[in-house]
Amino acid sequence: MAKRDYYEVLGVSREASEDEIKKAYRRLARKYHPDMNPGDKSAEEKFKEVQEAYEVLSNSDKRARYDQFGHAGTDAGGAGFGGFGNADFGGFGDIFDMFFSSGFGGTAHRNGPQPGADLRLDLEISFEEAAFGVEKEVGIPRQEKCPVCDGTGAAKGTKPKTCPTCHGTGQVRISQNTPLGHFQSVRTCHQCHGEGTIIEKPCSNCRGRGTVQKTRKIKINIPPGVDTGARLRMTGEGESGLRGGPPGDLYIHINVRPHKFFKRKGYDVICEVPINIVQATLGDSIKVPTLDGKVEINIPEGTQTGTQFRLKGKGIPRLNGIGRGDQHVKVYVETPTNLSERQKELLREFAKLDGLEVKGVKKNNEKNFFKKVKNVFMG
Ligand SMILES: [Zn+2]
Ligand SMILES: [Zn+2]
Repeated sequence: MAKRDYYEVLGVSREASEDEIKKAYRRLARKYHPDMNPGDKSAEEKFKEVQEAYEVLSNSDKRARYDQFGHAGTDAGGAGFGGFGNADFGGFGDIFDMFFSSGFGGTAHRNGPQPGADLRLDLEISFEEAAFGVEKEVGIPRQEKCPVCDGTGAAKGTKPKTCPTCHGTGQVRISQNTPLGHFQSVRTCHQCHGEGTIIEKPCSNCRGRGTVQKTRKIKINIPPGVDTGARLRMTGEGESGLRGGPPGDLYIHINVRPHKFFKRKGYDVICEVPINIVQATLGDSIKVPTLDGKVEINIPEGTQTGTQFRLKGKGIPRLNGIGRGDQHVKVYVETPTNLSERQKELLREFAKLDGLEVKGVKKNNEKNFFKKVKNVFMG
């Protein structure tokens, strides 16, 4: 099914302000919330659609990307929302606060469907896996509908009974006569705790809870270009919902292991390579590791330490699938150590040609020398 335009989903114009988007979202989310439409599949779909549209349009970064690239700009390889560096589900907490702590969907709807909880998985991947993407199979322990009682919580052959105290409503009315007058209040039923049903003989498999913990194997497609801090969402892979409620989502938080040779800056790869004093002076070609194997680069004569060379397109593939970053190779000149007498003699001669008389200092003085330097700097 083709995805609808997010602006169309929320019924706002492309120029809508943040406030207009928020208002439209609240109105539609209330209208289609599962608690308001128990068992209505199309309302549930609409609710998810509205949530997704809001997640994107309420975040200025994501909205800009959506405006530019459409769904492709927000959807990393179909795995949900990619990291794009510091992606954050800004405003996402709001949604849940709004529905699940402000009393909306509270006791009055307790025996209606309840959405399953979201799950978080922290996944560590290698530098190369982050660069080129990877498919990972992981075991996710989660609560699933008990197969023995089919989620009812009642023992085999029995059914949950309508609560005799509240007659299935989950609430009881309490009348009170006070000096100020006659009051009626509604409270959660104490016998069924608002469920509306009671289980006389609990299912032995799930002890009456209706759910059991199971480890389910899930394949996760990590798109090329992700970095530490990226979060992927897999819709419907969280905990099962209760009484026909929709399942929660699975959020995968990516952590990339450091590489022993490469560092990453955005989509660029950075590395440092040592060259010796002769290579730096006369020039040479050297082999440098890249994500695609070794590449030869030319070091021109007279190269100074700290000089950077750029390998175009040898960096990390971009999350949006368009091109790759570069690799920057920084060379540093290593001072030779443990030279033979002959080598030293040649260097002294070299210095003489430059008009320099180099005395040379023996190695065992090194410590004292550095101590002195340190003392100078430390004051
Ligand atoms: Zn059971
Ligand atoms: Zn009851």
